[in-house]
Amino acid sequence: MELKSVREITAWRLCVGCGACNYICPDDEIQLVNITNEGIRPLCSGDNCDRCTEGIEVCPGYEVIHGEFADNLDLIPELKTGWGPVLEVWEGYAADEDIRYHGSSGGLASALALYCLEKEGMQGVLHIGTDKEKPWKNKTVFSNNRNDILSRTGSRYAPASPCDSLDKIENASMPCVFIGKPCDIAGLRKAQSLRKKLNDKVGVAIGIFCAGTPSTQGTLDLLNQFEINTGEIEDIRYRGKGWPGNFSVRLKNEKSQSQEISYMESWGFLQKYRPYRCYLCPDGTSEFADISCGDPWYRELKEDDLGYSLVLVRTEKGRRIVRGAMEAGYVVLERADPEILINSQKNLLLKRGAIWGRLLTMRAFGIPTPRYEGFSLFKNWLGIPLKEKVRSILGTARRIIQRKYYKKLPMS
Ligand SMILES: Cc1cc2nc3c(=O)[nH]c(=O)nc-3n(C[C@H](O)[C@H](O)[C@H](O)COP(=O)(O)OP(=O)(O)OC[C@H]3O[C@@H](n4cnc5c(N)ncnc54)[C@H](O)[C@@H]3O)c2cc1C
Repeated sequence: MELKSVREITAWRLCVGCGACNYICPDDEIQLVNITNEGIRPLCSGDNCDRCTEGIEVCPGYEVIHGEFADNLDLIPELKTGWGPVLEVWEGYAADEDIRYHGSSGGLASALALYCLEKEGMQGVLHIGTDKEKPWKNKTVFSNNRNDILSRTGSRYAPASPCDSLDKIENASMPCVFIGKPCDIAGLRKAQSLRKKLNDKVGVAIGIFCAGTPSTQGTLDLLNQFEINTGEIEDIRYRGKGWPGNFSVRLKNEKSQSQEISYMESWGFLQKYRPYRCYLCPDGTSEFADISCGDPWYRELKEDDLGYSLVLVRTEKGRRIVRGAMEAGYVVLERADPEILINSQKNLLLKRGAIWGRLLTMRAFGIPTPRYEGFSLFKNWLGIPLKEKVRSILGTARRIIQRKYYKKLPMS
């Protein structure tokens, strides 16, 4: 079934919530709303919305296509099928101790962004921070100094739509840094291909690894476990302050003790709130970024670990920036064996492997699916164990029936 509008994409639950349609809409008629148990989704109000093609062209929820990267001889051959284009794998941390400590992993995404600001003449960083008014939600922010970047370190396991403010990059006087999840980076790239002014101003795209974004309901239910009302909250951190850090809630009443649980416990809870669209996403490592940063989960967890990041260099631009940041002393990195990526992110590979079976089942039910090219989905499916192959089909069929995914969401 061919989808003809952003409204239909959203109704069939294919939206990833990146916000690119809100940026591209020529008539300013797409409003983003946070559906508490789903994610950030577009509400289209205009009469033209059902005929507008730009919203579809910019949508990574509908279609994601890799160019011809498989023939590039510089790419690491054993990573092409499961991880997209990778030129180099590195492991290390931000040289700035505060950024390393507060960062999710080793603070690499933030340290590279700071290097681009201070040494590459870039103007600002478009990324995600806490919504100060409602700290259980996120907000797109534009950082242009170290303190801003430092205050926005750390993954936030809740919906975020950094592409909603791409106009900030487009209207900047100098190139800028963009940081986002894999779907955000894919949305950015599509928007770049449609808007030359934006394309000229994207200095570098830094992606983070992502296994899916829990809905806001996840955070609210976790807060409920602590018996915390949202009105009492001053700040929430999902992790950081050491690796992998803790989920912590600071309350407005300074006499009340902050509440903390380990990252492992909080992710174990939150991950159940990932919307179905995230289970259909093959890109867990930001394959369209210049540089991707993630966790080196192959490492043993130790107390007081300051943190390490895995870094994938994906483009020549990324290579130049990583080299520059090392030489200028912003990051401390060592070249790593590509096996480290595979050993660190087994879950992401298993998820990618299941997608061919999931899409096949959806098509059998007549449900529209996202279009992917260049992700070797069938090859990845062949690589997963038989039990997982069966589950990718029967589990999807069960979900479709139980959760009525064969019906569109009412879009009012
Ligand atoms: C929903 C989600 C799922 C993840 N799943 C995995 C996984 O499966 N495997 C893995 O290795 N890593 C995963 N991560 C990434 C990991 O937690 C680290 O963010 C990543 O390793 C970068 O660490 P860092 O220290 O280099 O980043 P930092 O220097 O701490 O910078 C983090 C950057 O990410 C941005 N950011 C934070 N939250 C979001 C968000 N929700 N959307 C967009 N941008 C955001 C911040 O604005 C900041 O610029 C996930 C992150 C998120 C948000």
